Amino acid sequence: MTIQRTFSILKPDATRRNLTGTINAKIESANLRIIAQKRLKLSLAQAQAFYTVHAERAFFGELCQFMTSGPVVAQVLEGENAVANYRDIMGATNPANAAEGTIRREFAESIEANSVHGSDSPENAAKEISFFFSDLEIVG
Ligand code: ATP
Ligand code: MG
Repeated sequence: MTIQRTFSILKPDATRRNLTGTINAKIESANLRIIAQKRLKLSLAQAQAFYTVHAERAFFGELCQFMTSGPVVAQVLEGENAVANYRDIMGATNPANAAEGTIRREFAESIEANSVHGSDSPENAAKEISFFFSDLEIVG
């Protein structure tokens, strides 16, 4: 059994449609515990820093605009194989390719406005968690 932590963001398209609780229920149903959570509005500089791995991609500018277009909810999730488990319940980046029952299939508006972010590796999870949360704010 590997208890792991991952980092999640409920994106502006989700908060705009008042889906925080609905998505959190899906997260908790998948045996992931929300051990830290805060709602915030990203600055452009924060969005650019968070998505720096995508800086060379054609969609980078638009993505950063989108991520600063409204409130987001940043979260730390904990559970067995949390990184892969959360990626599974999120579904594919493009909702058109996302499996039935996944968060993106049910809620995403587009490949960009796709409702949730989840870390893609334990190493990136650790980096992303410390970007947004201090140890004091994480209560496992
Ligand atoms: P995330 O990192 O948000 O969990 P992901 O790992 O499924 O998503 P990435 O390839 O890391 O996908 O892309 C990061 C984000 O950039 C996507 O979630 C989406 O919001 C946006 N994005 C990805 N590809 C495109 C695209 N072709 N056009 C517009 N936006 C895109
Ligand atoms: Mg990614």
